[in-house]
Amino acid sequence: MSIPNSQARRSSLQVSIGSVRVGGNAPIVVQSMTNTDTADIEGTVQQVKALARAGSELVRVTVNTSEAAAAVAPIRERLESQGVRVPLIGDFHFNGHKLLREHPGCAEALAKYRINPGNVGRGSKRDPQFAEMIDTACRYGKPVRIGVNWGSLDSDLLTRLMDENSASAQPLTAQQVMRNAVVLSALESAQRAVDLGMPRDRIILSAKVSGVQDLIAIYGDLANRCDYPLHLGLTEAGMGSKGIVASTAGMAVLLQKGIGDTIRVSLTPDPGGDRTQEVIVAQEILQTMGLRSFTPMVIACPGCGRTTSTFFQELAQRIQSHIRHRMPEWRRQYTGVEDMTVAVMGCVVNGPGESKHANIGISLPGTGERPIAPVYVDGAKDVTLKGDRIAEEFQEIVEQYVKRSYVPKNAATESAAIEPA
Ligand code: SF4
Repeated sequence: MSIPNSQARRSSLQVSIGSVRVGGNAPIVVQSMTNTDTADIEGTVQQVKALARAGSELVRVTVNTSEAAAAVAPIRERLESQGVRVPLIGDFHFNGHKLLREHPGCAEALAKYRINPGNVGRGSKRDPQFAEMIDTACRYGKPVRIGVNWGSLDSDLLTRLMDENSASAQPLTAQQVMRNAVVLSALESAQRAVDLGMPRDRIILSAKVSGVQDLIAIYGDLANRCDYPLHLGLTEAGMGSKGIVASTAGMAVLLQKGIGDTIRVSLTPDPGGDRTQEVIVAQEILQTMGLRSFTPMVIACPGCGRTTSTFFQELAQRIQSHIRHRMPEWRRQYTGVEDMTVAVMGCVVNGPGESKHANIGISLPGTGERPIAPVYVDGAKDVTLKGDRIAEEFQEIVEQYVKRSYVPKNAATESAAIEPA
């Protein structure tokens, strides 16, 4: 899909991660990360399945201990046996070189290794440990992500840049030096990997920070200085609406400039909360920007003094949930259903007009209006619903619309990454 109204940077290099392509002209890929203990094989399998079912196209798992590394191959096998083919990425820090060396099954089962150049080893250990990870990736034919994080920035590099800056006639601010250090850490580490034999089309870069303006400045600089695919994300974005707003604000500016080939929204879930929310938010960022389509969009008005009952909020929520629930099956059965729009409007003021713009729309009765709900299909009034079963009947209209309006897929050509739940 072309990028509407944006400057088309996109990387010129394309990296294959298992069956998923990142960069070049490939669609922007949604990824996520588990928060289970990877040594808990069953718990991790269940969460990877949930993330993949929600639409995560790549899933990263922590590989921090020998037990976690030993669990990776069995996790991969169990996922395969259940028809879940989403590529797994290993997240390594401090001991990645050793874990990959001691657990060849892990090295083989992972589709990509994430290497943090700031956490690969201290002092004289850093270079050989980095080299060992690159060597392992080359041997197994795996791509890597050089993933710089400003919370674990290479301290030697930062000290070097700070010293150079203080000796400069026109010193930069500490924040500017820090931004430069993040970018340089990614670029220099990528060059080191290339010098060690890693093909350039097996490298993805990221440079994550927690401030929106820093993110925009750093990725803008990185995009100007290399053609590697970029993994975009605001690190430690936070909880709830703050995390969503901050991630969206930062990533939307960059995506609009054509910067970013794969994204992750790093949300802190509520205790016991649903990890799949980060996948849904990432999809919604891309879909509302017109960059990709994942699931039919429900357009609902905010409600106002004309909607004094909660009926219309309940219907909008019900339709949204129904569509999300039905989408995995619709996606397998029909082509183009993800582009459908459904409007649920609260009253006659904007209801009929907005409903006509959508594929299907319902205009509910506002306070004081006649208790009827006209339904519009492809811009024309179709039926008028009334009584206690408006929600059920509207849901059925949506079902029937999908069946008759979208082309059934040939089961043989279907390429879904996950089997029916
Ligand atoms: S469509 Fe009606 S109920 Fe909804 S916000 Fe507009 S005036 Fe209010």
